[in-house]
Amino acid sequence: MKEIGHWINGKHVPGTSGRFADVFNPATGEVQARVALASKAELDAATEAAAAAQVKWGATNPQRRARVMMEFVRLLNRDMQKLAEALSSEHGKTVPDAKGDIQRGLEVIEFCIGAPHLLKGEFTDSAGPGIDMYSMRQPIGVAAGITPFNFPAMIPMWKMGPALACGNAFILKPSERDPSVPMMLAELMQEAGLPDGVLQVINGDKESVDAILDNPQISGVGFVGSTPIAEYIYSRGTANGKRVQCFGGAKNHMIIMPDADMDLAADALVGAGYGAAGERCMAISVAVPVGDATADALIEKLIPRIEKLKVGPYTAGNDVDYGPVVTAAAKANILRLVESGVAQGAKLVVDGRNFALQGYEDGFFVGPHLFDHVTKDMDIYRKEIFGPVLSTVRAKTYEEALSLAMDHEYGNGTAIFTRDGDTARDFANRVNVGMIGINVPIPVPLAYHTFGGWKKSAFGDLNQHGPDAFRFYTRTKTITSRWPSGIKEGAAFNFKQMD
Ligand code: NAD
Repeated sequence: MKEIGHWINGKHVPGTSGRFADVFNPATGEVQARVALASKAELDAATEAAAAAQVKWGATNPQRRARVMMEFVRLLNRDMQKLAEALSSEHGKTVPDAKGDIQRGLEVIEFCIGAPHLLKGEFTDSAGPGIDMYSMRQPIGVAAGITPFNFPAMIPMWKMGPALACGNAFILKPSERDPSVPMMLAELMQEAGLPDGVLQVINGDKESVDAILDNPQISGVGFVGSTPIAEYIYSRGTANGKRVQCFGGAKNHMIIMPDADMDLAADALVGAGYGAAGERCMAISVAVPVGDATADALIEKLIPRIEKLKVGPYTAGNDVDYGPVVTAAAKANILRLVESGVAQGAKLVVDGRNFALQGYEDGFFVGPHLFDHVTKDMDIYRKEIFGPVLSTVRAKTYEEALSLAMDHEYGNGTAIFTRDGDTARDFANRVNVGMIGINVPIPVPLAYHTFGGWKKSAFGDLNQHGPDAFRFYTRTKTITSRWPSGIKEGAAFNFKQMD
C-alpha cells in the first residue's frame, strides 16, 4: 500500500505518530494509499525549521523570489497531465476539470510573479523639512494554510504562492482526503529553486490543525473549508493573537428573470449545479425563477439536460460530465438530505437516487437530482449539500428573489440572468454577497482580483489572492526619516506638526 508522509526540509519524510487515514479512489471505492496524520510534535519541529529557513528567504530580493514562481509556472505546465491524473484519482473529478483546478492555481502564481511591484511601499518626499516618510511591506514570518479536499491544487496554490512571494515560510496542511497533489506541488517548488524548509507540507487532521493554531511561531493562518471549522479556526487562531482569514461554506442562488434567455440559463445551471458533482463552493445549488411561467419554462428546459448528464470515472476521459463524490460518507450525507427534501414536501422532478454504474458498484457516484417547489424552511434549502442536487425555489417577484439570497446565512456567490441592465445593476448593488455573476453562473474572480464571500462564508479581513493576499501575508512598517542639516538644534517636546 502506498504511504504518504510529509514534506519537510525538502524531503519526503514518513510520519512518526503511528496514525493514518485512508485515501480512496472514489471511482472504485478502493483504498489506494494511506496518509500519515501528524502529531503536534511533528508540526512543531517542522515549524521550527521553517522559521529558521525564512530568515534568508525573507531577505532574498523579491525579484529572485519571483523567478522561483516563474519557473514553478513552467514546471506546472510541463507536468499538467500527470498532476491532473493524480488529482482525479483521489478527488474523483474529471481530468479536464482537474486541469482547470491546477490552472486556476497556476494563474495566482503568475500574479505572484509581480511581487517586486506588489511589495513596493509608499513614499512621501518632504513630508516636512528634511523629512521623508515611507512604508515597507515585510513578511509576517511563518504562515500556515489549511485547505479543503475539493480543490487540492488550486487552493494550496492560492495560499502558498502569495505567502512565499512575500518572503514568508509556509506550512501547508492539505486535506487528508487527497494529499498527493499538494506533495507534488512541493516537489515542483523545490525543482523551481525554492530553498529547503521554506515550504513544509504536513499531512494531518484536527491534531495538526490545533498545533498550527497554538504554535506561537506561526503568525498568520489562511483556511478554506466548511463553515463550522472556519468559525472554530478563526476564533482559536485569533485568540492566540494570529492574523486569520477563513473561507467557509456556501449556498449560491441564481435568479432567473422572466426576460432571461431560458436556454442560456438552463445550460448555465446544469454546468454550475452539477459540474464536479456539485462539490464546488461556487456551485449554484439554488435556482430562483421569478414568476410561475418562468419556473415552468425553466424546469421544462432543465429536465432533459439533466437526464442526459454522463456520470462516470475520470478514466473515461472527455466522455464524462462529472465523477463520483469524494467519500462514502459524503455520498450518504447527500442522499440523506435528498430524502429529507422528499419528506418535507419538495417535488423531486429528476430522481437520481437509484443511480448505478456497471463495473463501479462500489464507487461513490451520486446521480443528478432536481427539486422543484422547495421552500425556505426545508433542510435542502438551509444546508449546504455539496452534491449534484439543485433546488428550485419559486419567487413571485424580483424583490422576493433578492431577499431569498439576502436572507440566507451564506453569502459566497450569486448570479442573476436577465436581459435588463437596470435589474442587473440593482441586484449587484444591493445583494449582500461577495461575488456576483451577471449572466455568468460561477463568478470566480480571476487571479488579479480577489476572492471572498460575505456573511457565514468568510471570517476575518481581506480576501484570497489578488492584492489582498499581499496585504494579508505582509506587515506594514512606516518610517519617518529626517536628515536635516541642523539636526543638533536641541530637543522638541511638543507633538510635531508637519510644516
Ligand atoms: P472541511 O472543513 O471538512 O476540511 C477543511 C480542512 O479542515 C481540512 O484540511 C481538514 O483536515 C480540516 N479539518 C476538518 N475537520 C477539522 C476539525 N474538527 N478541526 C480542525 N481541522 C479540521 O472541508 P472539506 O469537506 O474539505 O471542504 C468542503 C467545504 O469547503 C465546503 O463547505 C465548501 O463550501 C468549502 N469551500 C469553501 C471555499 C471558499 O472559498 N469559500 C472554497 C472551497 C471549499
